[in-house]
Amino acid sequence: MAPPPFVKSKHVQYIINQEQNRTFEYWLSEHLRMNGLYWGVTALITMNELSALPSSEVIKYVLSCWDENSGAFGSFPKHDGHILSTLSALQILKIYSPELSMLTDVQKQKLKDFIIGLQLPDGSFQGDRYGEVDTRFVYTAVSALSLLGELSDEIGDRASRFIMRCFNFDGGFGLVPGSESHAAQVFTCVGTLAIVGKLGLLTDEKRIKMVDWLTERQVLPSGGFNGRAEKLPDVCYSWWVLSSLKMVDSADLIDKERLEEFILECQDLEHGGFGDRPDNATDVYHTCFSITALSLLDYEKYGFIEIDPIYCMPLKK
Ligand SMILES: [Zn+2]
Repeated sequence: MAPPPFVKSKHVQYIINQEQNRTFEYWLSEHLRMNGLYWGVTALITMNELSALPSSEVIKYVLSCWDENSGAFGSFPKHDGHILSTLSALQILKIYSPELSMLTDVQKQKLKDFIIGLQLPDGSFQGDRYGEVDTRFVYTAVSALSLLGELSDEIGDRASRFIMRCFNFDGGFGLVPGSESHAAQVFTCVGTLAIVGKLGLLTDEKRIKMVDWLTERQVLPSGGFNGRAEKLPDVCYSWWVLSSLKMVDSADLIDKERLEEFILECQDLEHGGFGDRPDNATDVYHTCFSITALSLLDYEKYGFIEIDPIYCMPLKK
């Protein structure tokens, strides 16, 4: 059976509705608001529809989440600054202004100090001053510093050493050294190495093992990817796995046609948006990573812009 068409205008409207419907769920998701806005903005710009959301409102919201105490962005006004919401804020602002012209020099300096202050002696990063360590925070911190133009070799070297300690025998990466391999963690680890220019730390042997582990994530006959062995496929791994393979020039090793069909089957054809699997409830997170994965597969076919597999932002030409 042929896969369903890509219902672009429904997805655009779906994302607009996410931002305008102040439902109960909206207020419950305060801690994810900044991430959610990044997912919506990224999905829109990938589809060449950034103007569907009023830029002044988006920027105003992001700036209203500035936390002067920590010198970083929170997820919602008056929330404490955190590395996750800070990266999302910087990504959004950078999409509208590559020079980050809406931030003062003092704010940029504070952001730099905040992020660098989260790095521990072993090279890992905390999410905030009280938080735990996780390879996700390493990627987030390194990406944010890079967007600010403040990533030094010393920080990058230490971060990459920590990342390599999280590499597992099976070819995947975990949350911390010794923890189970997971596809999203592979993205954060390979992404960190790519940002700091240390992909060479993946020796041929390690890279081949990792590529094998990643290609094994494709579940047939569905064509979707899972996050680890024996799990059901989930459309968000289309992004985490495919982008990781792209970063090491190995994306051609998977069945792209079946993956594309699986992604299209995860659409809600009536209301727009994507769910984790066909016929499941939609959300903006899975919508974003479905659309960015389609961009990686064939951005021209969909009339999309090309997305950078390392930063999950429009590719700088
Ligand atoms: Zn998912």
